[in-house]
Formats: sequence, C-alpha cells, structure tokens
Amino acid sequence: MTQKYRITLLPGDGIGPEIMSVTVEVLKVIGKQCDIQFEFSEALMGGAAIDATGEPLPADTLEMCRNSDAVLLAAIGGYKWDNLPRHQRPETGLLALRSGLGLFANLRPATILPQLVDASTLKPEVVAGVDIMVVRELTGGIYFGKPKGVFATETGEQRGVNTMAYTSAEIDRIGRVAFETARKRRGKLCSVDKANVLEVSQLWRDRIILLSSEYPDVELSHLYVDNAAMQLVRAPKQFDTIVTGNLFGDILSDAAAMLTGSIGMLPSASLGASGPGVFEPVHGSAPDIAGQDKANPLAQALSAAMMLKYGLNELAAAEKIEQAVMQVLDGGYRTGDIMSDFSGTLGMKMLGCRAMGEALIGVLENSNND
Ligand code: NAD
Repeated sequence: MTQKYRITLLPGDGIGPEIMSVTVEVLKVIGKQCDIQFEFSEALMGGAAIDATGEPLPADTLEMCRNSDAVLLAAIGGYKWDNLPRHQRPETGLLALRSGLGLFANLRPATILPQLVDASTLKPEVVAGVDIMVVRELTGGIYFGKPKGVFATETGEQRGVNTMAYTSAEIDRIGRVAFETARKRRGKLCSVDKANVLEVSQLWRDRIILLSSEYPDVELSHLYVDNAAMQLVRAPKQFDTIVTGNLFGDILSDAAAMLTGSIGMLPSASLGASGPGVFEPVHGSAPDIAGQDKANPLAQALSAAMMLKYGLNELAAAEKIEQAVMQVLDGGYRTGDIMSDFSGTLGMKMLGCRAMGEALIGVLENSNND
C-alpha cells in the first residue's frame, strides 16, 4: 500500500531555495521507487517571512508545520536582516519553531566519508572511519533555566545570571531518545556531564544510569565534558552515540561536526515526544554564494534521509539517499566547498548545485534499474 506523508517545506533564505529544490526532486524519485507519496506544502520562514509578513515565523507557517508529518527546513538569515531587533530576527523564528513543536532532542551526526577524509584539518589516520551521533538536549538547561538576566546588586554592580537546571523527566526523555538512537547504531552510548562539579550534572548521571537498566543491549559510559572535548579531537573513533545537555551539546556537536571539515555535508534532526520533527542542514544560508548555483545540496539531501529514517521510519528510502550520496562522491563529483587542493589533479569534477542534484538523481535512477 502506498504510504502518504505531508511534508512542510521551509526553503528560507540565501542558498535555501536552491538546495531545497534539488532535495524535493530527489524525494520525488525516491517516492516513485519506494511507493511513497509525498504531499509537499511550502511555507515562509526567516528573512523571506519577515519581508512578507513582518515576522520570522508567521502563525500560518507554524500551523502548517504542526499539521504535517515532517518539516524539511533549508536555512534562514542573511545580512539584510542582521540588524533588526531581536524579536524580528530570523533566528528568533528558529527558536519559536523548536518550542512551538516541542523539539527537545537534536541529533547531529558527524560522519567522515572515506571520499572526503582529506577535507578534515586532522590527520587522516585520526579521522578515517569516524561515525558519531551527538544527541543534544534542546529545550532545557542553561539556555532556558530561571532566574536569568542582568541584575543590579546592592553595591551598585551589575550581575549576569543564567541557571542550569534539569528535571528528572527532562533527563529521562532525552536519555530515552539517546538509548534508542544508540540501539539503531553500534550500541554504544557515552553520556557527557560535569558531575564532579555540578549538582545538575550529578542528577543527569544518576538518571542516565537508572535508565540504562531498560537498555541492557546498549553499552553505557560517562565522560566529563572537558575530557570529552579532548577525546573528540584526540581519538574520535572511540565514540558512537553521545548524549549531553543543551550547553555542552551546542559546543561538542560543533566540534564533532568540524572533524569532517565540510559543512556542506552535515544534516541534523530535531525531534519531539510526538508530532513532526524538523530536519535541516547544519550550515547557514551562505549569503556569500546565494543565487550563484555554487551551493552543496548534499547536507540538505542527507537531512531528507534523516527525515525518512528518524521522522517517518522509512529506513530503506533513507538508505537509498545515503547510498546515492556515496556514489556521486565515488564518481568524483564535488561542489566547490568539498574540492580539496588536490581534487583537480585527482580527476575530480566540480559541479554546481543543480548539476549535483542531477548527478544524484542519475545515480538513483540507475540503481533502480540494476
Ligand atoms: P554559513 O553556514 O551560512 O556559511 C559559512 C561558510 O560556509 C560560507 O563561506 C558559506 O559559503 C559556506 N557554506 C555554507 N553552506 C554551504 C553549502 N551548502 N555549500 C557550499 N558552501 C557552504 O554561516 P554564516 O556565514 O555564519 O551565516 C550566514 C547566515 O546564515 C547568517 O545570517 C546566520 O545567522 C545564518 N545561519 C542560519 C542557520 C540556520 O538556518 N539553521 C545556521 C547557521 C547560520
């Protein structure tokens, strides 16, 4: 029976519309091959929404997202909107989308593809084979804890305050996502905290240990965040899945991403307890190359693969996209951002965004004829 899914598309700004249009074409081919019917609806978000409505996340857009099975976001923002007041900034729309959909879990893979090992700034022998998933708590911790603000003290000084707080329920729900994710991968979970100093981290560690009895098949370990940062650059291959709070996750997921050295290749997923997840590339709207057909569409295509895997449970369809990406890279096709200094001499061929999309579709169609 044909599966039907309603997908809200948020192309956003800058290179967003270019990479989104490639990905929609890829999904149409996947749909035909896997007997899936995607019903796409496009909505405004970010700078494009500010220009049209004055708000970065119009109520209509949030409503459309809530009524869909998954949300595919490209990127938002750009120089034009950088100096607007905070409530009108594109990023404010992103935070509103996350809280409006209750997205508390952020999944950020950092995978070194063998074809792109040279793109990393670390030695090939350190990064070859790295395949890490960082599961970051997204709606709690120090970014949201109260009290927060800058207050006057009795001595007339100012005092800036943020509060790192987690309830046991918040830790349990992100912990469950992490254990389930580790189960779908290599069955190893490392929980990162600062339990030697912070009470909130001690609770974090206690709850994760309690939860682990429900997942006897997952091997659990713990690291303090400072050691985790060191280990990520020293010996990243030791990690499979990492779970951590909002602040530590923000920093460690960027560090893990940079092991790959290629921002145009990195997808992400943000999930809630139920309802649609949001799937988007890690990179921004790249205003410096927008409209020039230079953007790498692969992070967006891989975000669609995450949507299929973690949002819609269409594992075979997700795998098709992942395999197609591997094959275009094997075929020597590169966008500008992933051409290394030696790529030309090694016979790599530089493509624009549209041509990279055509290469992906060519591979998908060929693989279906095999
Ligand atoms: P950026 O990720 O947009 O760009 C950084 C560099 O990487 C640029 O040189 C860009 O050309 C390149 N790059 C990024 N994605 C690429 C791709 N797919 N293909 C080829 N090259 C790519 O980060 P930035 O320049 O700091 O930010 C630009 C705008 O994007 C800002 O307004 C920022 O607020 C916004 N932003 C949005 C998101 C999001 O939508 N989630 C995330 C980060 C930044």
